[in-house]
Amino acid sequence: MLLPSLREEVVYLNQELPRNHLVTWTNGNASIRDPETGYVAIKPSGVKFEDLTPENIVVVDLDGNVLEGTKKPSSDTASHLYIFKHRPDVNSVIHTHSNYATAFAALGQPIPVYLTAQSDEIGGAIPCGRFATVGGEEIGQAALDAIGDSPVVLLKNHGVFAIGPNGEEALKAAIMVEDIARTVWLAKAIGEPQEIPADMVAQLHHRYTHEYGQEPDYRVQQAQTPNKES
Ligand SMILES: [Zn+2]
Repeated sequence: MLLPSLREEVVYLNQELPRNHLVTWTNGNASIRDPETGYVAIKPSGVKFEDLTPENIVVVDLDGNVLEGTKKPSSDTASHLYIFKHRPDVNSVIHTHSNYATAFAALGQPIPVYLTAQSDEIGGAIPCGRFATVGGEEIGQAALDAIGDSPVVLLKNHGVFAIGPNGEEALKAAIMVEDIARTVWLAKAIGEPQEIPADMVAQLHHRYTHEYGQEPDYRVQQAQTPNKES
């Protein structure tokens, strides 16, 4: 069997989607590219998340040829592959119709930065790409045309595409966009939230991506920046 550990990782990644309430029924899919071979392991089409096993994950090459698998790959495979071909830095793609983020997508609305969590994780507005039809590469093209430096993009009338250098980062982006969209929705229900100014967004993002988290010299850094949140 090709890439057994990658298959296991793809099962885990796909099953994290219902666990985090990002998908229903068989909608949504996750894939990971093996950095060495360039092959992509992806969810089979129309299979329920709880029925996924390493054996029924489909392995394809970047041209979409099925290398191993008894089932058809996800109907979004061409779009995942389009993203992998055009973004060598991306090794995982996740697609969901998670409710709150997709509500913004339904309106074709990007999500401005109202929350420090979004400054930290995303570093700017969550963009919304154009409407594209399912089946070919068009969705992947629309996603990349709009995504810029963001790890996640909404697609008009459709849903969410999250990307990352590995499965965990793509999953984080898919979870964070839903959490942010939910909070923004709640805020808009009780008033008009205020955007964080762009220079402050840049400052917060830099701090989060360069200083936040545990590092070998954590105690030294902490001593120098006593007000840092944990
Ligand atoms: Zn979809």
